[in-house]
Amino acid sequence: MNQPTRRRVAELRELIEQYDYRYYVLDDPSVPDAEYDRLMQELRDIEAQRPELVTADSPTQRVSGQIAAGFAEVRHGVPMLSLDNAFSEDDIVAFDRRVRERLGRADQQIQYCAEPKLDGLAVSLTYRAGRFIVAATRGDGSSGEDITANIRTLRAVPLVLRGPAPDEVEVRGEVFMPLAGFTRMNAAALAAGDKVFANPRNAAAGSLRQLDARVTAMRPLQVFFYAVGQWQGSMPPPPGQIELLQQLAHWGLRTNPEVRPVLGAAGCLDYFHALGARRATLAYQIDGVVYKVNSRADQQALGFVARAPRWAIAHKFPADEALTVVRAIEFQVGRTGVLTPVARLEPVQLAGVTVSNATLHNMDEVERKDVRVGDTVVVRRAGDVIPEIVRVLSERRPKGTRRPKLPDKCPICHSRVVRVEGEAAARCSGGFTCPAQRKEALRHFASRRALDIEGLGDKLIDQLVEQELLSTPSDIFALDAAKLAELDRMGEKSAANLVAAIERSKDTTLPRLLHGLGIAGVGESTAKSLADHFGSLDALAGASVEQILEVPDVGPIIAASVQGFFADARHRAELKRLRSFGLHWPEGPPAARQKKQALPLSGVTVVLTGTLAGLSRDEAAERLEALGAKVSSSVSKKTSYVIAGAEPGSKLKRAEQLGIEVLDERGLEQLLARK
Ligand code: NAD
Repeated sequence: MNQPTRRRVAELRELIEQYDYRYYVLDDPSVPDAEYDRLMQELRDIEAQRPELVTADSPTQRVSGQIAAGFAEVRHGVPMLSLDNAFSEDDIVAFDRRVRERLGRADQQIQYCAEPKLDGLAVSLTYRAGRFIVAATRGDGSSGEDITANIRTLRAVPLVLRGPAPDEVEVRGEVFMPLAGFTRMNAAALAAGDKVFANPRNAAAGSLRQLDARVTAMRPLQVFFYAVGQWQGSMPPPPGQIELLQQLAHWGLRTNPEVRPVLGAAGCLDYFHALGARRATLAYQIDGVVYKVNSRADQQALGFVARAPRWAIAHKFPADEALTVVRAIEFQVGRTGVLTPVARLEPVQLAGVTVSNATLHNMDEVERKDVRVGDTVVVRRAGDVIPEIVRVLSERRPKGTRRPKLPDKCPICHSRVVRVEGEAAARCSGGFTCPAQRKEALRHFASRRALDIEGLGDKLIDQLVEQELLSTPSDIFALDAAKLAELDRMGEKSAANLVAAIERSKDTTLPRLLHGLGIAGVGESTAKSLADHFGSLDALAGASVEQILEVPDVGPIIAASVQGFFADARHRAELKRLRSFGLHWPEGPPAARQKKQALPLSGVTVVLTGTLAGLSRDEAAERLEALGAKVSSSVSKKTSYVIAGAEPGSKLKRAEQLGIEVLDERGLEQLLARK
């Protein structure tokens, strides 16, 4: 009966020791803090029930950490302790009750000093006769690493204290890396192919604990002081924590401006909520708040247990990173047809809510992170952001896992899934036949640059789809004024206006129709090229991939997408129905049989970028096309000119790389004046 518990205790201690080594010595944690805290809590619970299993070297009984090779050792005059942790409001209420009872003041309110709990590295600096002489890390609490040279590189640390100081004083605080510096440093490391740090705490610790202090000097480190250790001389220490912080500030040591005196457990919790709400706006990372009994006399009366004082407690924010297991990887179809891989997770508590799904963004991301079903993963949820998978713990991967594959059929409508070149996203090619895309596809069909149906706005489309009056574009032409007038915010007059607009839209053009159909990869300019090349809808619908490939600017992926669209019987039926409602457009012979008209800009291909002062880009394109030019959206070797307005985009760069002639607005005018 005892055996399993003993074995679990040994197992927990071994795991914690292993995680401590990664965290404190290598500054490279292998699991999120929440996982570590969970194991520690399990061990504490077992030890509370079975005190005979407690040993002096149990991680619950001592300050974790050790001295890394290469550093000299510094013994702390007064041990550097850790803090007890609290994760709930009840824990804080219980802490306050214990304090009052121990002090024999059960019915009085205690004054606390509430401080942000910085996520950094505890350091101790000794000043003798006001001069900085030595600095150390916390280490195992009784001795730490000598980091004097490293601390000297921090500009914020005074080498001489201002004003009177005791003969010798050891000041303690937290060295941390502000978030902006952390982001910058990690971006630079990533670009250089160097190691990136998991979080600002590890970055601060890794930067400070460098044998070569020149490395530390280049890292964006900061410090806040919040305590004293040894204090020698005739000058008495301040009577409370608040007064101590004031003294530190007078000496020229940075203290945190968010610190506040608070009264009782209620005051502590108010502070916790107020600071928690502003957490994301702070320039540095905090993982909770610390409450300290303010009076020094009370602190001494309360004393400490093995690893932490009885007069202070750390109230942690709910963890925003945790470990869980991927149960499945599924694909969601968004309103534009984009397939997003989503990991279905074993439910886990994150930042106060239960999380059971995490986005994987796209297949590139799945491949980069190598996430598989069965994997143990670190998930993160910061603020209101959708939870995401940070990384996979590859050492915990079960045998026989496989890389997930993009489905070739849409999970909703079973249409083909296509991946358009240059896009990370995969899309369902179903368009309006896919229920997931219906509203968006109808919106697109009715939009100004497609069928241009005035008055058929987003809200109306939502209503019509929800009432099942609309599912495909041709349904629009079956709407009648009486049905429309019954809808919310629709009178008879607006219903009649809409019916008239629908009627007008029947007189359209082939490019508008092709664009409006929402064929994957076919934007306005491709629609125009297709219409010009084939002349009629039937010619295009009957074309093979090879024939479609002859259209300028159309590559194999778009050609396959167009061919696939027309091969789908549902789409052919829809086009037939559209025609049966009287939708019509001018058709002509295919380009190959059109007589080549010698227009002034025939054979010239132009790309527009940036903002033009005189006319809009659309106007410029229309006028260029009227003169026979082809207006393309991307720069290639076939481009004749790139016309660059104000704030041009990457197209200008590309033109310069390819040596394409770049024209300004005056150049454009000259082009438009060609006869
Ligand atoms: P702690 O971080 O929970 O609390 C004590 C520390 O808080 C002090 O040493 C000090 O550095 C810091 N602190 C910040 N602001 C302070 C303030 N205003 N006043 C006083 N102290 C302040 O305790 P710990 O023993 O340093 O570390 C334990 C924690 O570290 C665990 O809860 C766990 O989250 C994390 N950890 C994680 C792993 C891992 O593998 N992920 C491994 C070991 C430890």
